[in-house]
Amino acid sequence: MEVFIEPIGRLMNEFSKLPGVGKKTAQRYAYKVISMSEAEARAFADAIVAVKRRVRFCRICGNFTEDEVCDICKTRDKSTICVVKEPKDVIALEKLHEYKGIYHVLHGVIDPMNGVSPNDIRIRELLERVGEGGVKEVIMATNPDVEGEATAMYIAKLLKPLGVLVTRISRGVPVGSELEYADEVTLSRALSERKQI
Ligand SMILES: [Zn+2]
Repeated sequence: MEVFIEPIGRLMNEFSKLPGVGKKTAQRYAYKVISMSEAEARAFADAIVAVKRRVRFCRICGNFTEDEVCDICKTRDKSTICVVKEPKDVIALEKLHEYKGIYHVLHGVIDPMNGVSPNDIRIRELLERVGEGGVKEVIMATNPDVEGEATAMYIAKLLKPLGVLVTRISRGVPVGSELEYADEVTLSRALSERKQI
Protein backbone atom coordinates (compact mmCIF):
# COMPACT_ATOMS: atom_id res chain seq x y z
CA MET A 1 0.00 0.00 0.00
CA GLU A 2 1.21 3.49 -0.87
CA VAL A 3 1.79 5.80 2.08
CA PHE A 4 0.15 8.74 0.29
CA ILE A 5 -3.30 8.63 -1.28
CA GLU A 6 -3.17 8.83 -5.06
CA PRO A 7 -3.88 12.56 -5.72
CA ILE A 8 -1.32 13.65 -3.12
CA GLY A 9 1.28 11.18 -4.33
CA ARG A 10 0.67 12.36 -7.89
CA LEU A 11 1.14 16.04 -7.01
CA MET A 12 4.28 15.22 -5.00
CA ASN A 13 5.63 13.37 -8.00
CA GLU A 14 5.08 16.45 -10.17
CA PHE A 15 6.78 18.78 -7.67
CA SER A 16 9.74 16.44 -7.39
CA LYS A 17 10.47 17.06 -11.08
CA LEU A 18 11.56 20.61 -10.16
CA PRO A 19 15.29 21.25 -9.60
CA GLY A 20 16.34 21.00 -5.97
CA VAL A 21 13.02 19.53 -4.81
CA GLY A 22 13.39 16.28 -2.91
CA LYS A 23 10.68 14.04 -1.40
CA LYS A 24 10.35 16.07 1.82
CA THR A 25 9.99 19.40 0.01
CA ALA A 26 7.58 17.89 -2.52
CA GLN A 27 5.43 16.72 0.39
CA ARG A 28 5.50 20.19 1.98
CA TYR A 29 4.50 21.81 -1.33
CA ALA A 30 1.68 19.32 -1.87
CA TYR A 31 0.29 19.93 1.64
CA LYS A 32 0.45 23.67 0.96
CA VAL A 33 -1.63 23.23 -2.18
CA ILE A 34 -4.21 21.20 -0.23
CA SER A 35 -4.58 24.14 2.16
CA MET A 36 -5.22 26.59 -0.70
CA SER A 37 -8.69 27.68 -1.81
CA GLU A 38 -9.79 26.24 -5.13
CA ALA A 39 -9.31 29.71 -6.74
CA GLU A 40 -5.72 29.91 -5.46
CA ALA A 41 -4.95 26.41 -6.67
CA ARG A 42 -6.43 27.21 -10.08
CA ALA A 43 -4.38 30.43 -10.37
CA PHE A 44 -1.28 28.38 -9.57
CA ALA A 45 -2.06 25.75 -12.20
CA ASP A 46 -3.06 28.41 -14.76
CA ALA A 47 0.28 30.24 -14.33
CA ILE A 48 2.13 27.02 -15.19
CA VAL A 49 0.07 26.43 -18.32
CA ALA A 50 0.36 30.14 -19.30
CA VAL A 51 4.16 30.15 -19.39
CA LYS A 52 4.08 27.15 -21.67
CA ARG A 53 1.50 28.76 -23.97
CA ARG A 54 2.81 32.32 -24.04
CA VAL A 55 6.57 32.25 -23.60
CA ARG A 56 8.72 31.59 -26.63
CA PHE A 57 12.20 32.46 -27.86
CA CYS A 58 12.95 35.75 -29.61
CA ARG A 59 13.58 35.07 -33.30
CA ILE A 60 16.66 37.30 -33.21
CA CYS A 61 18.42 36.90 -29.85
CA GLY A 62 16.93 33.67 -28.45
CA ASN A 63 15.80 35.26 -25.17
CA PHE A 64 12.35 34.63 -23.69
CA THR A 65 9.59 36.78 -25.15
CA GLU A 66 5.83 36.84 -25.66
CA ASP A 67 6.20 38.25 -29.18
CA GLU A 68 8.18 37.14 -32.21
CA VAL A 69 10.90 39.69 -31.36
CA CYS A 70 11.72 40.75 -27.77
CA ASP A 71 11.60 44.32 -26.46
CA ILE A 72 15.39 44.49 -26.10
CA CYS A 73 15.93 43.64 -29.77
CA LYS A 74 13.19 46.08 -30.78
CA THR A 75 14.45 49.12 -28.90
CA ARG A 76 18.17 48.97 -28.12
CA ASP A 77 21.52 49.80 -29.73
CA LYS A 78 22.21 47.09 -32.30
CA SER A 79 25.92 47.83 -32.71
CA THR A 80 26.86 45.82 -29.60
CA ILE A 81 25.88 42.19 -29.01
CA CYS A 82 26.48 40.55 -25.63
CA VAL A 83 26.73 36.74 -25.93
CA VAL A 84 25.47 34.70 -22.96
CA LYS A 85 24.82 31.06 -22.19
CA GLU A 86 21.22 31.20 -20.97
CA PRO A 87 18.21 33.54 -20.65
CA LYS A 88 18.86 33.88 -16.91
CA ASP A 89 22.20 35.56 -17.73
CA VAL A 90 20.31 38.29 -19.59
CA ILE A 91 18.36 38.95 -16.38
CA ALA A 92 21.60 39.15 -14.34
CA LEU A 93 23.04 41.74 -16.76
CA GLU A 94 19.79 43.69 -17.15
CA LYS A 95 19.61 44.15 -13.38
CA LEU A 96 22.70 46.37 -13.67
CA HIS A 97 20.79 48.90 -15.82
CA GLU A 98 24.09 49.73 -17.54
CA TYR A 99 24.28 47.75 -20.73
CA LYS A 100 22.60 49.47 -23.69
CA GLY A 101 23.19 46.93 -26.44
CA ILE A 102 21.41 43.75 -27.45
CA TYR A 103 22.03 40.08 -26.61
CA HIS A 104 22.59 36.69 -28.16
CA VAL A 105 21.57 33.68 -26.08
CA LEU A 106 23.52 30.56 -27.04
CA HIS A 107 21.30 28.12 -25.10
CA GLY A 108 24.32 26.22 -23.86
CA VAL A 109 28.10 26.16 -24.15
CA ILE A 110 30.41 23.81 -25.99
CA ASP A 111 30.89 20.82 -23.68
CA PRO A 112 32.33 17.76 -25.47
CA MET A 113 32.33 15.71 -22.24
CA ASN A 114 28.55 16.00 -22.17
CA GLY A 115 28.11 15.66 -25.91
CA VAL A 116 27.45 19.35 -26.66
CA SER A 117 29.17 20.34 -29.91
CA PRO A 118 29.32 23.81 -31.55
CA ASN A 119 26.42 22.79 -33.80
CA ASP A 120 24.19 22.18 -30.77
CA ILE A 121 24.21 25.81 -29.63
CA ARG A 122 23.24 29.01 -31.44
CA ILE A 123 26.65 29.89 -32.94
CA ARG A 124 25.53 29.81 -36.58
CA GLU A 125 22.74 32.28 -35.77
CA LEU A 126 25.29 34.63 -34.16
CA LEU A 127 27.57 34.51 -37.20
CA GLU A 128 24.57 35.29 -39.43
CA ARG A 129 23.63 38.29 -37.27
CA VAL A 130 27.15 39.70 -37.34
CA GLY A 131 27.44 38.91 -41.05
CA GLU A 132 24.42 41.12 -41.77
CA GLY A 133 26.54 44.13 -40.78
CA GLY A 134 26.09 47.04 -38.38
CA VAL A 135 27.70 45.23 -35.43
CA LYS A 136 30.80 46.91 -33.99
CA GLU A 137 31.47 44.83 -30.89
CA VAL A 138 30.60 41.35 -29.65
CA ILE A 139 31.05 40.88 -25.90
CA MET A 140 31.62 37.28 -24.86
CA ALA A 141 29.85 37.01 -21.50
CA THR A 142 29.74 33.24 -21.07
CA ASN A 143 30.50 32.04 -17.52
CA PRO A 144 34.20 32.14 -16.49
CA ASP A 145 34.40 28.34 -16.16
CA VAL A 146 36.24 25.89 -18.45
CA GLU A 147 33.37 25.44 -20.91
CA GLY A 148 32.49 29.14 -20.91
CA GLU A 149 36.08 30.17 -21.64
CA ALA A 150 36.50 27.57 -24.37
CA THR A 151 33.23 28.61 -25.99
CA ALA A 152 34.22 32.30 -25.89
CA MET A 153 37.57 31.54 -27.56
CA TYR A 154 35.97 29.28 -30.18
CA ILE A 155 33.42 31.94 -31.16
CA ALA A 156 36.00 34.76 -31.08
CA LYS A 157 38.06 32.87 -33.66
CA LEU A 158 35.05 32.60 -35.98
CA LEU A 159 34.08 36.26 -35.54
CA LYS A 160 37.45 37.90 -36.12
CA PRO A 161 37.49 37.39 -39.91
CA LEU A 162 34.19 39.29 -39.99
CA GLY A 163 36.02 42.45 -38.88
CA VAL A 164 34.21 42.92 -35.60
CA LEU A 165 35.75 43.81 -32.22
CA VAL A 166 35.47 40.79 -29.89
CA THR A 167 35.80 41.36 -26.15
CA ARG A 168 35.61 39.17 -23.06
CA ILE A 169 34.18 40.22 -19.70
CA SER A 170 37.04 40.65 -17.22
CA ARG A 171 38.05 38.23 -14.50
CA GLY A 172 36.13 40.25 -11.94
CA VAL A 173 33.67 37.37 -11.83
CA PRO A 174 35.34 34.57 -9.84
CA VAL A 175 36.70 31.78 -12.03
CA GLY A 176 34.43 28.76 -12.18
CA SER A 177 31.35 30.68 -11.06
CA GLU A 178 28.20 31.66 -12.89
CA LEU A 179 27.15 35.19 -13.86
CA GLU A 180 23.84 34.61 -12.14
CA TYR A 181 25.51 34.39 -8.74
CA ALA A 182 27.96 37.28 -9.13
CA ASP A 183 27.07 40.35 -7.07
CA GLU A 184 26.09 43.44 -9.05
CA VAL A 185 29.27 45.44 -8.34
CA THR A 186 31.46 42.54 -9.48
CA LEU A 187 29.40 41.88 -12.59
CA SER A 188 29.28 45.58 -13.46
CA ARG A 189 33.08 45.78 -13.19
CA ALA A 190 33.52 42.61 -15.25
CA LEU A 191 31.42 44.17 -18.00
CA SER A 192 33.05 47.62 -17.98
CA GLU A 193 36.59 46.25 -17.77
CA ARG A 194 36.18 43.87 -20.69
CA LYS A 195 39.23 43.15 -22.80
CA GLN A 196 39.78 42.48 -26.46
CA ILE A 197 40.37 38.79 -27.29
ZN1 LIG B 1 15.54 39.50 -28.81
